[in-house]
Amino acid sequence: MTSRTGIIWLVVLALLSAGAAAIFWFRADIATNILRRAAGAGVGAALKAELPEGLHAVFCGTGSPLPDRSRAGPCFAVIAGERVFVFDAGEGAAETLALMGVNAGDIERVFLTHLHSDHFDGLAPLALQHWAGAASTTPLDVAGPIGTSRVAAGLNEAYTIDSGYRMAHHGPEIVPASGFGMAATEFAIPEGANDLVVYDANGVRIIAFPVDHAPVDNAFGYRIEYAGRSIVVSGDTSRADSVAQAARGADLLVHEAISTELNAIMQDAANSNDRRNVGTIFHDILDYHTSPEDAGAVATEAGAGALALTHLLPPTPIPGLDQVFVRAARTTYAGPVWAMRDGDVISLPRDGGLVRSHHMR
Ligand SMILES: [Zn+2]
Ligand SMILES: [Zn+2]
Repeated sequence: MTSRTGIIWLVVLALLSAGAAAIFWFRADIATNILRRAAGAGVGAALKAELPEGLHAVFCGTGSPLPDRSRAGPCFAVIAGERVFVFDAGEGAAETLALMGVNAGDIERVFLTHLHSDHFDGLAPLALQHWAGAASTTPLDVAGPIGTSRVAAGLNEAYTIDSGYRMAHHGPEIVPASGFGMAATEFAIPEGANDLVVYDANGVRIIAFPVDHAPVDNAFGYRIEYAGRSIVVSGDTSRADSVAQAARGADLLVHEAISTELNAIMQDAANSNDRRNVGTIFHDILDYHTSPEDAGAVATEAGAGALALTHLLPPTPIPGLDQVFVRAARTTYAGPVWAMRDGDVISLPRDGGLVRSHHMR
């Protein structure tokens, strides 16, 4: 290296160091300026405006009750044209919906699949966003199995003190008293019937059907139809014929999944570390969830167009672990299969086809 080249390198290095030092020194100002530009887009963001006309599967919580910072508790939403419906709201659901650009004030109704607490422990924060974030004048509409009214009443009661503070602080225009909390309706599938239409308006039809999640009473899956497209969501269930029946010819089957292979590793780890209690739970949950192989078999039986696996058990903190689910499902289903992540959207445009996208701000 000539001395001239050496000097040039020294100057370049000095300039780079000075630049890095300046970025470090002014980082608070730089970040504030980025926020100034991004905030408008973030606050005003609306996922539905970014999607083509049609029916959309929105994955707002692909986790389970087990701890996982990358996945919210069970939450699935459907955008049908202008309408937004949410199916379950586990912990972190309200946050994830907001990060995806779904305004809680736009939610027409929340349907619960069953009353395991991890499927509704994000409901109260969602009702708070629906009210305080959107100045809603009516409570969040929540429909579900027998017991839903009791759950909603309990959550409303728990949030009543807080609501008083907010109304006193922001005033009735920002937080109208009539919009606080949630209003519940309950339904049951009549004896001898296979299913029940629980919503039929504005071109959207939603049908509840029973699944098998014993000892949980009244566990449902849902079929959603709009613009000639259809999505079936299994809810929590062991392998059930009712899911295959409801998903007949559906464009997309959204099915829960428990990997028996990964669950066995977790069970052994719990038992050998003297966590028998946890080990027993890992054993017990196998009989009321569905393996990815069985979810694939259900999709094949139904002739579903694609299979989206969610409610992944156990959690998948290591990159590649989600592919264990996909690999297993592919042994029984030849169509497209994905292990879903929070922020994913599967669109079924009115004109046909299927488009996948990711929306996490
Ligand atoms: Zn569950
Ligand atoms: Zn459950």
